[in-house]
Amino acid sequence: MKKLRLLVQVGFVLFSAYLGLRHQIVGGGPSGAGPIDAFCPYGAFEALPILLIEGTFISKTAVSNLWILAALVAGLLVVGPVFCGWICPLGSLGEWLYGLRKRIAAVKLEPGKALARQLTWGRAVMFVLILFMSWRTKSIWFENIDPYKAIFHMNVESVAALSLILGFVAISLLVERAWCRWLCPLGIFNGFVGKLSLFKIRRNETSCIHCQACSRACPVRIPVAEVQAVSDDRCVGCQRCVEACPVKNTLQIQSSPSLGKRIMKPTMAGIVAVGLFIAIVGGAQATGFWKSNDTRSIAQISSTAELKGWMKWGEVVDRFKVDEAALAKELKLSPGYKRDATLKELGHKNGFETKDVGKAIEKLKKK
Ligand code: SF4
Ligand code: SF4
Repeated sequence: MKKLRLLVQVGFVLFSAYLGLRHQIVGGGPSGAGPIDAFCPYGAFEALPILLIEGTFISKTAVSNLWILAALVAGLLVVGPVFCGWICPLGSLGEWLYGLRKRIAAVKLEPGKALARQLTWGRAVMFVLILFMSWRTKSIWFENIDPYKAIFHMNVESVAALSLILGFVAISLLVERAWCRWLCPLGIFNGFVGKLSLFKIRRNETSCIHCQACSRACPVRIPVAEVQAVSDDRCVGCQRCVEACPVKNTLQIQSSPSLGKRIMKPTMAGIVAVGLFIAIVGGAQATGFWKSNDTRSIAQISSTAELKGWMKWGEVVDRFKVDEAALAKELKLSPGYKRDATLKELGHKNGFETKDVGKAIEKLKKK
């Protein structure tokens, strides 16, 4: 199982890097490729508040986010949070960084049990904060503090992005799966839905010799040897505990008694979760229901909240019928800019973001 899991993890990390690079090379918009934000299940939660209220996706999110969330939920309902331990590229990078550090310095750094448990609330705080801020700012606010975006965007565009990457590397080197345990907003959702999964890791109290091998193997410090079934919201579905158990038929992935206590091998749990993920995402693509980039032209957008970085300055000015000189002054645009430059290009040179253009237009309209 170890080799297969590593192979799957490497595959998803490389594929995510490819998606980020592809966006950098061909750009966004109708003829480009979706940004890396469109390939994250949490993007669906960020998009939902405005999608439900206004019927539009906020910038950098798309229907692809909903499909990825659906694929994640399907896996959760069958085999639990295997997505985190097998598919999530950020989780894999964190795991490898810690593994590397352990080879260099084998010391185990771990906060006390009580503190470690309290820190898990960080995920709930992140979940609620990001939902609220996405709704409030009508933007993908999480990208400002999201290490997945900073890393797989494949272009470090600001000091803030570099700080995020360094911060993620630092906590991953220090404590095993620190991001997953204490900060990942998806973790709290996975834990909640994972409680409903058909198959769970169950321990046979009668044959268990209480050697603690399972608890020691767990990267998120779940006391597996002390529970009957793993339903802890910190579980990342890596199956390392099952592999570590030295007593046959003692720690197994088992369905509930109402489903006949069927056993699933750890490798099969990974195959099922990854298979469901690929089948749902691939199915959406094959049937034309997949969309990861905004294919609308500037004429088709209805509000300044829908402005995108690939849109051209001149087209934006004409579309919203705004005084160009006043807008340039508002955004402190250096003289000599080109009308066919994109908002992203001008933003880089003049220190503003695409959403600032929308805000400036709205401000001028009110005058
Ligand atoms: S070792 Fe077992 S309990 Fe711990 S995260 Fe992996 S699957 Fe979950
Ligand atoms: S590794 Fe197996 S035998 Fe040892 S404590 Fe865990 S479940 Fe029991």
